[in-house]
Amino acid sequence: MVWTWLLDLLYPPKCPFCGRILDDPWTALCGQCQETVPWLEGNDAIRKIEFTEGCYSPMAYRDNVPDSVHRFKFYGCPSFGRRYGILVAQCIQDHYEKPLDFVTWVPISKKRLRIRGYDQGRKLAEGVAIQLELPLQGTLKKIRHTQAQSTLSEDAQRRGNVLGAYQILDGVEVAGKHILLVDDVVTSGSTLEECARVLIGHGAAQVCCATLAQSRKNRQNFSLGTENCFEKNS
Ligand SMILES: [Zn+2]
Repeated sequence: MVWTWLLDLLYPPKCPFCGRILDDPWTALCGQCQETVPWLEGNDAIRKIEFTEGCYSPMAYRDNVPDSVHRFKFYGCPSFGRRYGILVAQCIQDHYEKPLDFVTWVPISKKRLRIRGYDQGRKLAEGVAIQLELPLQGTLKKIRHTQAQSTLSEDAQRRGNVLGAYQILDGVEVAGKHILLVDDVVTSGSTLEECARVLIGHGAAQVCCATLAQSRKNRQNFSLGTENCFEKNS
């Protein structure tokens, strides 16, 4: 705790969406971004995914969100996971009522972990677990390299790309468990679906998914579920 306090003093926590220093270190984002990030409301926050109870996401993947997520993933900002975790946990508390046993995440490959130095999915899952006061439990490993899902446009391609890419970790028991599976962004849902398929295949009772943001598969059909927010705030 003292260590956290000292770190906050040396490196004051910043808003992950705009970089402003946060007045309150326990909040997820600054007051201005609170008003402008593309929140998803009601059923827009939930996406159906096979083998799961659905995927819950507090915001859409547009406006200032992609830049923030890129910083989180590629530019050495793992601390964003704690802030994002507050938002994801709030979304789960708002929409999902069933009990959960632990939080897990979609892992990156060993090779990528070596290059990046941290697994952003784990960082986000840690933030969510702290906020929901649930244990954090690694359950999966990525056993082969896959092409970035963002480079594939068709659902079938995305599904094929991740098929068989994940395995259960040795010695991990998921039978009968109610699991919250976390990733940064959901697009087609193929990756979460494949991870959930593995967990259910090993006897998990239920898998609920959560991501920071939800990206639409077809941008031409991207109806802005949060237009009201912007009207309200303008
Ligand atoms: Zn901000």
